[in-house]
Amino acid sequence: MIKPHTDVPVAESADLQSQPATQLRGVGPRAAQRLANLGIETVQDLLFHLPMRYQDRTRVVPMGSLRPGDEAVIEGAVDLAEIKFGRKRMLLVRISDGTGALTLRFFHFNANQQAGFARGVRLRCYGEVRPGAVTLEMIHPEYRRVEAGAIEEVEEHLTPIYPSTEGMHQLTLRALTDQALERLAQAGDAGLHDWLPPELLKQFKLSSIAAAIRYVHRPPPEASVESLEAGRHPAQQRLVFEELLAHHLSLRQLRYAAKAQRAPVLTGAGALHNTFLASLPFALTAAQRRVVAEIEADLCRDHPMLRLVQGDVGSGKTVVAALAALQAIEAGAQVAVMAPTELLAEQHYRNFQSWLAPLGIEVAWLSGKIKGKAREAALGALASGAAPIAIGTHALFQEDVRFARLGLVIVDEQHRFGVHQRLALRDKGKQGELRPHQLTMTATPIPRTLAMTLYADLDASIIDELPPGRTPVQTVVIPDNRRPEIVERVRQACAQGRQAYWVCTLIEESETLQCQAAADSAAQLAEALPELRVGLVHGRLKPREKEAVMAAFKARELDLLVATTVIEVGVDVPNASLMIIENAERLGLAQLHQLRGRVGRGATQSSCVLLYHGPLSEQARARLGVLRDTTDGFEIARRDLELRGPGEVLGTRQTGLLSLRIADLLRDQDQLPAVERAAERLLTEYPDHAPPLIRRWLGDAGRYGEV
Ligand code: ADP
Ligand code: MG
Repeated sequence: MIKPHTDVPVAESADLQSQPATQLRGVGPRAAQRLANLGIETVQDLLFHLPMRYQDRTRVVPMGSLRPGDEAVIEGAVDLAEIKFGRKRMLLVRISDGTGALTLRFFHFNANQQAGFARGVRLRCYGEVRPGAVTLEMIHPEYRRVEAGAIEEVEEHLTPIYPSTEGMHQLTLRALTDQALERLAQAGDAGLHDWLPPELLKQFKLSSIAAAIRYVHRPPPEASVESLEAGRHPAQQRLVFEELLAHHLSLRQLRYAAKAQRAPVLTGAGALHNTFLASLPFALTAAQRRVVAEIEADLCRDHPMLRLVQGDVGSGKTVVAALAALQAIEAGAQVAVMAPTELLAEQHYRNFQSWLAPLGIEVAWLSGKIKGKAREAALGALASGAAPIAIGTHALFQEDVRFARLGLVIVDEQHRFGVHQRLALRDKGKQGELRPHQLTMTATPIPRTLAMTLYADLDASIIDELPPGRTPVQTVVIPDNRRPEIVERVRQACAQGRQAYWVCTLIEESETLQCQAAADSAAQLAEALPELRVGLVHGRLKPREKEAVMAAFKARELDLLVATTVIEVGVDVPNASLMIIENAERLGLAQLHQLRGRVGRGATQSSCVLLYHGPLSEQARARLGVLRDTTDGFEIARRDLELRGPGEVLGTRQTGLLSLRIADLLRDQDQLPAVERAAERLLTEYPDHAPPLIRRWLGDAGRYGEV
């Protein structure tokens, strides 16, 4: 665990991290509250409140050289001001500067304003240039009157635009950062401590933090707005490095803190392990064996395991989880297995029950839908310790759920939980001094560099091999006006004794509409294919009905299963060799990959038809192309990240997984290996520097590390 810093090598007075923002001119109680809303409490916080974009007000641009889309300062004399009565009353002011002319358009104006635009009056304006009917235009520009012949100043720096909050004007933020920068100038580099010591700065070729901060707040006129807005300027990249480092350190700290805690030692003779393996109709792959060995070694330690298992769809993560559970159970501990959705939890429940019941192990089931007596019974069995293992949704971690001796928590994350959820789980499972071991499984293969940052609080294992006997699925992308051909294909596949899935998607959030669409499709297909037995499954069916349909499909009593995306998880029918996905363009790559993973589970050549409703956007075309070209989950994840960015792919926006000020995980991933090395060195040689560095970038959020 990292100690709080004691030897801050900076004089208290000069150090901007110890100066409250209320010391600045113009910060009364109201402004202080607004700053606090932005996470700003100290002068240092203000300096780390970074611009999100820039305006160039450093020069007056000749009107003749303006292009639509530019944001520019212009200056010229009024030629004409007139009120137009169209659908809306508006004031048009034509100005010119000898190189060209431009129209200012106002929808809101008063008589005074109008009178101010007398012919010949000189105006300086700032605004976005738009195409207009006669000349280029600016709509509601900022403007002020200037005296002819007077020397008017322009800004000395590019103008920063800050993220703001209600009631906090850009001008105020600019005035406050001006003061903060002044203080920084007075204090010199002592004002903003480089928590990276000189030899690290040198090793990683980094400039001083103070210089980078000064630059991004007030870039000189020659700075390229383009490079700044792309976030690629060296000064920004210097800050990116430190921000990524702060996040990395914070996750590491979390992990150290967690590792310093005690966990029950879960060793056994391996009797259950062996009996279970002998009961399986297959042998583990080498990758599964390796990962199981890693987990089993972790469980024998008296510190909590924090392990992430990454494995592609169908790589066999469930068996690995079961083996971990058996070791814990043999050692006398209880196990909780949590999945993000009811359906996935149900599937795990069925799997675990079929595997563990023969070994004499009772499996408890807990989901949001379990109520009344059944729920009480399950809760009782967990509290008394009678049930050694419970499977469920997040309902497993509600207040009233108590375990007698929880030793292992398994989370099938399915890319739906983030770091905060993981933390909550760790806290929830605590039993006196002891914390349970934790195993997280994810089906979203994340490129190594990203995983290092996103999961720096976990040890990682990768199942990088699929069970043998699988044939890669052939994928085609076809417009939905060729639907009759595809229906024919279903007929042929089923005539040969194969089975098929037909997946319906709808863009509407409404589950009812989705189910309706699937029901309609099922009816149409049944009519077009009278010789086939067609089943229907969707999220509105009762669990028992759903189960009955699935069981019938599995038992080959149905040829064609029409479904909503509920079958993304939890279906395993090796004889099914054809999948049609309607409106495939509406789904994300990961989801399509998951769906497709339902076929190709046997030795027969399987196919997946991605039906799209044209015309396709360029991005949609590229996405479907990725799926056609590869079945490798890692490659798909990499391309998905490229096409959509980590925020969307990993759901970081919703989960608050990482909220970054200046770094962009995808753009800046090249920095990650160096960041990791810097973290390593800082922690071994300057452990005291980590907490203030984390606090600088993460503020209070960084304190989640102090568990
Ligand atoms: P996922 O990693 O996507 O969760 P599952 O655990 O659901 O994958 O496994 C997919 C299918 O592969 C299941 O039917 C499972 O029983 C089977 N399976 C797992 N491991 C092996 C193996 N080593 N050999 C053959 N089949 C396996
Ligand atoms: Mg799974």
